[in-house]
Amino acid sequence: MQLKFWRMQALRSIHESRRFIRRNTWEKQLAHLQAQGHLIYSGSSHLPEIALTFDDGPDPQYTPQILEILQRYQVKATFFCIGHQVATYPHVVRQVSEAGHVIGNHTWTHPNLAFLCGSDILSQIERTSHAIQEAIGAQPLFFRPPYGSFNSQVLTQACHLGITPIIWNNSTEDWARPGTDFIIRRALDSISNGSIILMHDGGQEQSQTVEATSIIIEKLQDQGYRFITIQQLIDNLIIKDLRSRLTHSMLLSS
Ligand SMILES: [Zn+2]
Repeated sequence: MQLKFWRMQALRSIHESRRFIRRNTWEKQLAHLQAQGHLIYSGSSHLPEIALTFDDGPDPQYTPQILEILQRYQVKATFFCIGHQVATYPHVVRQVSEAGHVIGNHTWTHPNLAFLCGSDILSQIERTSHAIQEAIGAQPLFFRPPYGSFNSQVLTQACHLGITPIIWNNSTEDWARPGTDFIIRRALDSISNGSIILMHDGGQEQSQTVEATSIIIEKLQDQGYRFITIQQLIDNLIIKDLRSRLTHSMLLSS
């Protein structure tokens, strides 16, 4: 019930803030922050690659079902885990990690970090990273702020901890359980090179997400897209950036 409550809060929070910020303005701000190296919200627009991301797990019922689908289609994804869930179900996190997927940090209790002070933000991230380290033997390199909500203090603390904030540019709205067809349509309608798709493997009943995931993968693979983890997405962005800088400097020197 508590988890359902913060989902409803998220709905209001996102709709209220987005009402005042036109979508393209929001994306321009994210693009600017990505260019400055403060966060990642999109992969390379030149590569037919997509990152599937699953938030709010690990969940003992739905996470293994998602893993089975990913295994069936030979797809690797990224899972942003809630710290107290990691502490409760460390074996599920290990299962995700051992299957070759990337584990990210999604805070300890899923608060809106923009309303917290610096030390509380730090504690939410650090405690979760510690639980992940205990579960899989490695610190997470990526962090997703709940509701995609952040301010300069959140970015500063993430930078201080050396953990990269990851937002998304394609939300399936699956947390509202709008129906499998709606989730699939949302994912496919706004797909493009470098899309980071937001879905959920925990937090509440997620059978619609489980059902939608296989169809989304099938349809996008048919369209020629490859699925990559957030780590691969960032690696490819860096390579592309280096190549374009090299090309630029070669043009200048010729
Ligand atoms: Zn979340």
